[in-house]
Amino acid sequence: MGEAKQGVTVSRTGTAVGQGPVGAMTRALNAWIQVDLGALGHNLGALREWMAPAAPAVMAIVKANAYGHGATAVGRELERLGVEGLAVVWLAEAVALREAGVSIPIVVLGHSFVEGAESAVQHNITLTVHTEALGSAVAAMAAGAGKTARVQIKVDTGLHRSGVGPEEAVRLAEALRAMRGIEVEGLWTHMANADEEDDSFSEEQAKRFQAVAAQLEWIPVRHAGNSATALRRPELRLNAVRTGLALYGLAPSEYGAAPGLRPVLSLKARLARVARLAAGEGVSYGLTWRAGSEAEVGLVPVGYGDGWKRQLGGVGEVLVAGQRRPMIGRVMMDHFVVDVTGLGCAEGDEVVLLGQQGEERLDATEVGRLAGTISWDVLASLQARLPRLYVRDGLVVARA
Ligand SMILES: *Cc1c(COP(=O)(O)O)cnc(C)c1O
Repeated sequence: MGEAKQGVTVSRTGTAVGQGPVGAMTRALNAWIQVDLGALGHNLGALREWMAPAAPAVMAIVKANAYGHGATAVGRELERLGVEGLAVVWLAEAVALREAGVSIPIVVLGHSFVEGAESAVQHNITLTVHTEALGSAVAAMAAGAGKTARVQIKVDTGLHRSGVGPEEAVRLAEALRAMRGIEVEGLWTHMANADEEDDSFSEEQAKRFQAVAAQLEWIPVRHAGNSATALRRPELRLNAVRTGLALYGLAPSEYGAAPGLRPVLSLKARLARVARLAAGEGVSYGLTWRAGSEAEVGLVPVGYGDGWKRQLGGVGEVLVAGQRRPMIGRVMMDHFVVDVTGLGCAEGDEVVLLGQQGEERLDATEVGRLAGTISWDVLASLQARLPRLYVRDGLVVARA
């Protein structure tokens, strides 16, 4: 532990400790993620309003470290905001949320092994069950503990990822229904083309799903919608929606309207060095960028090791002094370089990689397009080295 100049204490992991204004909390940080808890609340409200008068339960998706936002803090905040449940893909993600004190329902959407049954029952986690073997393991554990475990069944209606086919789903549901210690609470499916311009295959999938649901009317909960489906297809909101990206403040599709959402995550850094280069000098590995005339270049201490896409080298932009400035040369594991010629920048100046600075804004959708990928990937790629600061009303209230 050591004291930094402005009185910010830096832990061994480099994370600022304590609570306070963002500026003071970040002076000792090379880079950080800022999570705007107010925006998260706004997006939940906007989503509920958009779907009204339908009022499906909101199962907030916090898989993959809550799309880079930090699953524990975001899960706790979503519980505080009143979402009806959370969903993840791995059992271990659900257990971590329980260990962090989250007590609302948590559904595991992905595959679980029979060996996970004990943990699921112990932590009151709802598994998606794909086999009778897993169902009976859960049932036995629950019956032994004097509990009734809730489970769900995923119907593969055409995405051909996980789940069981329509006929198998009916057989499995009836088999699980006969077991003591288990209750089939939900039936669900997932759309293949929800965010595509032509999402008409959703109609075919919905037909296949409804055909199964009609044979299993005793299962109380049905859900089929991710963010794009929830926003674009009112008829598929059913009892619950599984929204991830929209809660994080990004429109899931360029097709179809969306409510006014506010990006929750910003990624910021401080210039580590500003160097003056003579004409002809190169920058970064391979020296793929060369100064056409005398230039000033800023070193940003973020790289692909932090999840900042290497593909952005030479095509991405970041915000410096309120302006869009080009990322030049290759992105390295821990650094990239930005052209700051003429801005009079100095070490410590703030650089915005995602978020707002002055009048300019960069969001994960735009960055994803430049990197040849999608907003989900840009966010979910952000790694653990980046400290996460949770901000409410301009104050850092938690960190991870
Ligand atoms: C990730 C995921 C979602 C959330 O998708 P968004 O587009 O981020 O809303 C919903 N359902 C399932 C099964 C998922 O895996």
